[in-house]
Amino acid sequence: CGIVAYIGPKDATPFLLEGLARLEYRGYDSAGVAVAGRTGGIKVRKVKGRVADLAAEIPARFKGTTGIGHTRWATHGVPSDANAHPHLDNAERIAVVHNGIIENADELRARLAADGAVFRSETDTEVLAHLVAAHAAEGGELEDAVRAALGKVVGTYGIAVLDAEQPDRVVVARNGSPIVLGIGEKEMFVASDVSALVRYTRQVVHLEDGELATVRADGFRTFTEDARTTHRQPSTVDWEI
Ligand code: GLU
Repeated sequence: CGIVAYIGPKDATPFLLEGLARLEYRGYDSAGVAVAGRTGGIKVRKVKGRVADLAAEIPARFKGTTGIGHTRWATHGVPSDANAHPHLDNAERIAVVHNGIIENADELRARLAADGAVFRSETDTEVLAHLVAAHAAEGGELEDAVRAALGKVVGTYGIAVLDAEQPDRVVVARNGSPIVLGIGEKEMFVASDVSALVRYTRQVVHLEDGELATVRADGFRTFTEDARTTHRQPSTVDWEI
């Protein structure tokens, strides 16, 4: 239902939690965040309940300068801690948050399970984590692994993907579910709705359907599912807040 992401010099979690709170008006049943940082590995907290319940679960040592967050409105699988996003692959290298519905999730799940993936939720989203991880394991850039994974997916998505081995970026994609990039001073924000990021920046880029972006602290690159770079000019949000 709601997506946020941060990459920059600061601790990601305060923006993630505040951004998610600003998306609460859309309705949701669960919330979660994942961060990666210089110390290696991905840390995740996710709960059935409110953003305030999630915030109460986050320990002081939960630090990372790259992060993703989600408020879930369940479509596949009951509201529960296990079904809350972010979802991870078995090596806990890749974390994914997702809005929308993966229509061929059952088929992908069966194939991934046959190749050794162990599923820990009932969601359609979890297939994305295992699928991106399978491509990332071949080596190369996270954005190429995400493109390859999305090439096998039928459905609607806004996604944000975090890689423990490439914590210098977040990869996002849009197909039928909005994703907005917010451009800061040596930091970047992402949200599914501009209201989550207008307190931080007024310079935004709305992705189009079929478009992806690699987002880094010092900028972003947008491209299509067949790897053609798209050149997007930021626009300025001129609302009162
Ligand atoms: N289909 C996904 C799920 O049920 C995402 C739902 C959403 O858009 O929040 O977990």
